[in-house]
Amino acid sequence: MVATQPSPERAQELTARLAAVRQRLADACRAAGRDPAEVGLVAVSKGFPASDVVALADAGVIDFGENRDQEASEKAAAVPHVRWHFVGRLQRNKCRSVARYASVVHSVDSVRLAESLAAAAQRHERTVHALVQVSIDGATGRGGAPEAQVLDVAAAVASAERLRLGGVMAIAPQQMDPDIAFGELDRVASLLRARYPAARMVSAGMSGDLESAVRHGATCVRVGTALFGVRAPLVR
Ligand SMILES: *Cc1c(COP(=O)(O)O)cnc(C)c1O
Repeated sequence: MVATQPSPERAQELTARLAAVRQRLADACRAAGRDPAEVGLVAVSKGFPASDVVALADAGVIDFGENRDQEASEKAAAVPHVRWHFVGRLQRNKCRSVARYASVVHSVDSVRLAESLAAAAQRHERTVHALVQVSIDGATGRGGAPEAQVLDVAAAVASAERLRLGGVMAIAPQQMDPDIAFGELDRVASLLRARYPAARMVSAGMSGDLESAVRHGATCVRVGTALFGVRAPLVR
C-alpha cells in the first residue's frame, strides 16, 4: 500500500503549521537559553491520513508518532521512509507488531512490558530504542511507572540485547502545573542518567505545554494538534 499524495491546499496548510511550531520551539529554546538543535520534533499523526505524513515528510519532518498499533502499522506500511515512534499505551500482546515498524517506543512502563518488547525486537532482528514512561503523580491509569519502579524498568531495557535505553517520557497530569510536572521529570531523568549516561532523551511536551517542557530539559516534543489540527473524536 502506497500513501496517496496530499492535496496542494492541505500540503500548504501543513507546511504553514510546521513553520509555526518550529518558530514556537525556537522561541522556547531562546527563552530557555538552549540550542534548538537539542530539541527534536515528533509529529503525532494519530487521527490523520498517511497523505498528511507524506506532506510533512516532504517538508522535512523525519519523526512521526502514533498511539494505537492498528493505525500505526497501517501508516508505517504506507510511509516506510520516515522514523516511527510509538507513544501510546502498549499492551504486551501488541509488542510483536510494534517492534516491526517502531524505531522508538516512548511508553515502556513495566519490567514485563520491557521483556515482551525485547523478545519481539529479537524476533524481528531489529534494534528498538525504548524510553521509560514515568507517571509524575504516581497514578498509573494513563500509563507510566511510578518513580520507585523507574530504575527497575530501565534495567530490564538496558539488559536486553535488541533494546537501547533512550531515556524517559512523561505526559503532564491534567490537573498539575506543567512546570511542576516537567520539573519532576527532569529530576527523574537526572537519576537515570547518573546510572545510564547514554540515556539522554527526555520526551516531554505536547501542543499545549511544549514551552514548559523545553524549559525543563525536553529533548523531544510530541506534537499533534498544533501540526495537524483538531482531531475528530475517536471512534473505536
Ligand atoms: C496525542 C498525543 C500527543 C500529541 O498531543 P497534542 O496535544 O495533540 O499535541 C503527544 N503524546 C501522546 C502520548 C499522545 O497520545
